[in-house]
Amino acid sequence: MLPLSQTANDEFVPYLDKLIIIYAEMDRAYHLAADHYGFKCTGCDDNCCLTRFYHHTYLEYLYILKGYRCLDNGKRAKIKRRALEVVAECSAVYKKERILRQMCPLNFDGLCILYPYRPLICRLHGIPHEFRTPDNRIIHAPGCDVFSRHYGVEEYFKFDRTPFYAKMARLESELKQTLGGVNKLKMTVAEMIESF
Ligand code: SF4
Repeated sequence: MLPLSQTANDEFVPYLDKLIIIYAEMDRAYHLAADHYGFKCTGCDDNCCLTRFYHHTYLEYLYILKGYRCLDNGKRAKIKRRALEVVAECSAVYKKERILRQMCPLNFDGLCILYPYRPLICRLHGIPHEFRTPDNRIIHAPGCDVFSRHYGVEEYFKFDRTPFYAKMARLESELKQTLGGVNKLKMTVAEMIESF
């Protein structure tokens, strides 16, 4: 099989179509909870796009690749340059064991250039939530710093990520059967783009 970055978009259409439906459900649930608090993310100094998030699904990799391919050559070249810089800087810094915050190469002037294609964690970040672990524990997590500052005293509005994690895991497992014998994925957005 070709490296994923060289495969045609249409090979994975059925999986990405299902992913779009899951993302839409996620977005609806997120907005319901955010609207309940009156929370709206308009960007902040503590920008979550500076955080070194890892992503773990080929679904997300392929969907970002699809979005990336929709951009013009100039924009792609610019994003690729940024991604290479971020990856190089991160690996140099990690060797020295320092913590680094680096802007995601898809963030332009505070906005995500591939917003409709952004991965799960970018969609769900910001508001308090809960999820059920495989051994049936319920974990609660707070919102981001800005949320906590402005709405931290509000009563919790139930936002359960478990159904979304489960649907993603099922679809990822179906995709992996099609891909056959692939390794576990753990990549930042910068590392994904570097590989395109
Ligand atoms: S993919 Fe988009 S939303 Fe996610 S960190 Fe990068 S710029 Fe921000």
